[in-house]
Amino acid sequence: MTDCVFCAIVAGDIPAEVVATTDNVVAFRDIAPKAPLHVLVVPRLHVATVGELAHTAPELVAELVTVAQQIAREHAEGDFRLTFNTGASAGQTVFHAHGHVLGGRVLEGEGA
Ligand code: AMP
Repeated sequence: MTDCVFCAIVAGDIPAEVVATTDNVVAFRDIAPKAPLHVLVVPRLHVATVGELAHTAPELVAELVTVAQQIAREHAEGDFRLTFNTGASAGQTVFHAHGHVLGGRVLEGEGA
C-alpha cells in the first residue's frame, strides 16, 4: 500500500534494523525503543489491525507470535511482552498490523 511506512520497510524501500524474516513476516527494531528489546513483528500482508489479520489470515497471527518467541530467545532471556495496539485511542499510530515485542528488562505495567 502506498504511504504505509511498514510496507516500505517490508519492501526494503526505507531502512530498518531487521532482526528476523520469514516468507510472511518481517521483524525490525522499533525506532523509539521502550525496552532493551523492542522489536516490531509485522506481516508482509498489509492489513490495518491485528483483528483484521485474524479475520483475513489467522495463521499469520500464530506466525507473528512464533517469530516473537524466537526473537525473545535470541535477543533477550526468553521472556517477552507482545502488544498489539489496536485503534487510535489504544495508541495505534501506524495502521499496518504489528506486534511490539518487549523484553530485556523487568517490565512494569506500561504499554508500548
Ligand atoms: P503503534 O503506536 O502501536 O502504532 O506503534 C508504531 C511504532 O512504530 C512506534 O513504536 C514507532 O516508534 C515505530 N516506528 C514508526 N516508524 C518507524 C520506523 N521507520 N522504523 C521503526 N519503527 C518505527
